[in-house]
Amino acid sequence: MSRELIDLAIERLREDFPNKSKSWIRRALIRFMKGTVKEFNENTWVVKGLTELGDRYPTYVVRLRDGRYYCSCFESSWGLRRKSEICTHIAAVILYRNYKRLDSDVYASVINIECVDYYLEIPSELRGKVKVVKSVRVVDSSDRLNPRHRVTYVVYSSEPLEVRARLTCDGDVRELSLRLVRTRRYIVELLVR
Ligand SMILES: [Zn+2]
Repeated sequence: MSRELIDLAIERLREDFPNKSKSWIRRALIRFMKGTVKEFNENTWVVKGLTELGDRYPTYVVRLRDGRYYCSCFESSWGLRRKSEICTHIAAVILYRNYKRLDSDVYASVINIECVDYYLEIPSELRGKVKVVKSVRVVDSSDRLNPRHRVTYVVYSSEPLEVRARLTCDGDVRELSLRLVRTRRYIVELLVR
């Protein structure tokens, strides 16, 4: 496992659950790092119990249904208390899924520009197939009303594509032909952090 990917996977978990404690994150991380999470099918995971974390059963089953996670520990004697919380079995599954997603392949192209006004247009028929993310930093704010930005666009897709795009930078319009090449998902996330 890569340290950088684990850090990003934890960052995403924290963003999704900003009110959870450090110990909640730590317990999820222990479960994940010990390899206790196994995918059973697309919406079901089996999480091995860890006695040092107070688990009473050898395995727990986490299910995803209608966008909500359910854990078999909800059905135990502590179920009523636990139901209102998100247990760390679920948190470990989310970490596992975050990691797997970050570790997966995507096809991407990167554009760097410096402009006051900027716009990138992707043909409408590619919407849904192609995604665009960007990071923007102000590099010159001497003209307060028209600060100059450094913009990084990442255009990516789950398949290798040739994408025609139109880039507008301070009134200068360019037609681009972008070849999306294979990279890993976490690289995309690092580029636009
Ligand atoms: Zn649980």
